[in-house]
Amino acid sequence: KLSEENMNIVIVGHVDHGKSTIIGRLLADTNSLPKGKLEQVKETCRRNSKPFEYSFLLDALKDEQAQGITIDSARVFFKTKKRKYIIIDAPGHIEFLKNMVTGASRAEAALLVIDANEGVQENSKRHGYLLSMLGIRQIVVLVNKMDLIGYDEERYYEIVKEYNAFLKEIGVNVDKFIPVSGYHGDFIVKKTDNLSWFDGETVLEVLDAMDNSKLPIDEVFRMPVQDIYKFTNNGDNRRIVAGTIETGKISVGDEIIFYPSGKKSSIKSIEYFNGPVKTEDYAGSATGFTLTEQIYITRGELACKSNELKPQVATRISTKLFWLGVNDLVEGRQYFLKNGTAKVQAKIEKVVRVLDASSLVSKESNRVKRHEVAEVIIETIKPIAFDLTKDLANTSRFVIIDDYEISGGGIIQETLEDEQTWI
Ligand code: GDP
Repeated sequence: KLSEENMNIVIVGHVDHGKSTIIGRLLADTNSLPKGKLEQVKETCRRNSKPFEYSFLLDALKDEQAQGITIDSARVFFKTKKRKYIIIDAPGHIEFLKNMVTGASRAEAALLVIDANEGVQENSKRHGYLLSMLGIRQIVVLVNKMDLIGYDEERYYEIVKEYNAFLKEIGVNVDKFIPVSGYHGDFIVKKTDNLSWFDGETVLEVLDAMDNSKLPIDEVFRMPVQDIYKFTNNGDNRRIVAGTIETGKISVGDEIIFYPSGKKSSIKSIEYFNGPVKTEDYAGSATGFTLTEQIYITRGELACKSNELKPQVATRISTKLFWLGVNDLVEGRQYFLKNGTAKVQAKIEKVVRVLDASSLVSKESNRVKRHEVAEVIIETIKPIAFDLTKDLANTSRFVIIDDYEISGGGIIQETLEDEQTWI
């Protein structure tokens, strides 16, 4: 059961500002590392005459599973007395969008890292903008590498002031700012004398104090269908509908409607492929269920409960998107739109307005350049199922694929009437 004791946090920041070092520190100083791992990595460094870096711990943990810590390409797990954390490392904008939009992970809070020596960068602002756009409300800003500026209080508050002014402009209220040194471990887990002028909490204290009451299990049920597994059990032909529960929960007996098809049936059993049989399952879980009727559904549909809020089904939407493509996003051009597990052809009907995500200067244009944000009207070749960002942030997110690459992502703000201008 996904309980309040679990929390997903995403960590973002300009490259080299210290994300991996801070994660390494968090793991080491909360004793979340497998026994001997720290010594082993230090020893390897010594043998190669290379100075030890806390960020090496992440590499060393790759593909390793031990004592409650596992790390796959982008996720690190650690535990405190209060709860279990899943840190989603987003080294760049694309990884961040991919993580937030494909349903691979939902973050309830974000750590945004700024290098004290370099100060607020354009990317620091873009990340802030992206977090707010994607609906991540709890943000903690870590001003890292305080050691490099001699733990200077004045410089720290300058950075806080500058970044706060930007966040205010985009309507974000930051929960906390913390001066830290990932390198020396100041105020990550331990309060140290280096920052004796700072009377706030450590990163760990702030995380543990965060509100986790609005968990996605309390929201309506949404599961993008990933796959249908067909198999025969004692001569009985069965199908398991598999996917990861984005929000909400399901129980045996619940009536499920799949959108956009509108097909309906009830849950007969919950059992992921080869997994144990359950009577309930929750947001965050990779699950599977069988149905009482044999209905024909396919990957890409959105599974919902018939007694809960209906999702939107439409072919024309008003969106806000962040563009990262090498080539501009151009009005009138066709792309692929992916939301949940669905992927459809889509046309940019109109670029309504364009905004620079770091300078916040807006302009009119019929194309969107890399790192710009735009309000865009999109038409899809066939109906898609989704939610509006004001209803359910997770299922309002989508990405745009240009030439096989994720090139942008955004949120759906409004459903528009189908005008049949396409095909
Ligand atoms: P990432 O790209 O954001 O993951 O950054 P890394 O964690 O890899 O750090 C980039 C570089 O900055 C590495 O050489 C780190 O040793 C260094 N670094 C990270 N945190 C600190 C810090 O608090 N103080 C100092 N002096 N260097 C740091």
